[in-house]
Amino acid sequence: MSKILYISSEAFPLIKTGGLGDVAGSLPTALLKKSQDVRLVLPAYPEVLKKIKKSKIRGEASYYNMPVKIIETKLPGSNVTVWLVDCPAVFNRPGGPYTDEHGQAWNDNALRFAIFCRAAVDLSLNKLRLRWQPDIVHCNDWQTGLIPALLSLHSQRPATIFTIHNLAYQGVFDQQTFSDLHLPEKLWHMNGLEFYGQLSFIKGGLVYADRITTVSPSYALEILEPEQGYGLNGLLKERSKYLSGILNGIDDKYWNPGTDSYLKQKYNRHSLSKKILNKTDLQEELLLPSDTSIPMIGMVSRLVEQKGLDIILESLPTLLNMPIQFVILGMGETHYEIQLSEWAQRHPDRLKVIVGYNESLAHRIEAASDIYMMPSIFEPCGLNQLYSLRYGNLPIVTNVGGLADTVIDASEENIDNGAANGFVLKEHSSASLLTTVQRAITVYQKPKIWRQLQINAMSKDYSWSISADNYITLYQRALREHKSI
Ligand code: ADP
Repeated sequence: MSKILYISSEAFPLIKTGGLGDVAGSLPTALLKKSQDVRLVLPAYPEVLKKIKKSKIRGEASYYNMPVKIIETKLPGSNVTVWLVDCPAVFNRPGGPYTDEHGQAWNDNALRFAIFCRAAVDLSLNKLRLRWQPDIVHCNDWQTGLIPALLSLHSQRPATIFTIHNLAYQGVFDQQTFSDLHLPEKLWHMNGLEFYGQLSFIKGGLVYADRITTVSPSYALEILEPEQGYGLNGLLKERSKYLSGILNGIDDKYWNPGTDSYLKQKYNRHSLSKKILNKTDLQEELLLPSDTSIPMIGMVSRLVEQKGLDIILESLPTLLNMPIQFVILGMGETHYEIQLSEWAQRHPDRLKVIVGYNESLAHRIEAASDIYMMPSIFEPCGLNQLYSLRYGNLPIVTNVGGLADTVIDASEENIDNGAANGFVLKEHSSASLLTTVQRAITVYQKPKIWRQLQINAMSKDYSWSISADNYITLYQRALREHKSI
């Protein structure tokens, strides 16, 4: 059994903006189930404080002259202990974890996450008198990047793991910020936190962690190349011996069509015919024509370039002449929200766009749709295609990252050998997207084959258990290597 301090800037159900929230909400629970002693560290955002039930103050500290309390609670629905870093001056404000109400990044993000990192470092070194010393410190994304860097300065430190959930977000700030944060001069160099004259939080993880992981084997290879490496591919290549990819799982407690309390009608692969009631229910709710024979395409996504919105917009004129209903739930860049909403107004029988964040609707779209739209430019792992597979909603994806690792194209050969579970674009283009949607519609019109593909999709085990085992093996390896230094 290892003692693992798992550090994240979001974790479902307390706070979530994307896939990282799902992972940090379920991996610690999966590790606990496998008898690991795991604690989760999160910032105490107002939304989090509202959701917690029992809590007590376990420690106090001060960083940058700001008082910080460590609040202990439990992750709702789980027995995982959570330590909240409560610094009201930087975390207790309306808006999101990273952005204000208008979607603008908080202008003190460097300070906010430096405070978070400093508290996590003290917890890692058992300096806040919580009487618990981790063997492993597992950090996630740039918000936690300073932790491995600062820990590297201590000889008696736990082993460190850094997971990249999305390399496109790096936490880069100007050089003055480095001085303002009083970071040790020793860390300011090309092979440290400096990134072309600027301060890079993510480099703290990539340079100094004992082991680096990403969330799929394919993405672990893609980030070694310039296109997906965002200027960090050289560094990652140098450290490739310590880099590996572990696929995310899905949390059966929340994402299981057989038990999902958001659904009008629960179903599983043995009662697939009931799935259709979710479609008619959603058609009624969204004022779409009630028609069970028309394929419904769903999409639940951050509306950002990464998710393939440009080729979707380019395809819409043709797509909306096809016999489909297309339902999009998402929020993100304003120009995408506006353009999609305008298209929806012009085609109310074919396209519905719901701008916003809605957990319940996300589940109901997964259950109602026949096809799931996810033509990402890049995708570190992707959870929505996994949810779609689990819900018998066949994904249309690009051949990248975690999408390539989880979706098997419905080619004739793959249909015959029983492997097919979705549709893969030949390339990232609107022409290819349209051909692929057409291909999916053609297969949809062959109910026997479609049913078989749905069963293929729903039969695979996407649970966290396998991934948690992979993480435990990695922790043990990191510990062995760390001890032998
Ligand atoms: P990413 O982390 O890049 O956003 P993922 O597919 O890994 O993409 O995970 C996205 C998660 O966020 C999924 O759980 C998805 O259902 C959820 N999600 C994204 N946008 C919304 C939204 N508008 N409403 C509800 N859930 C959303």
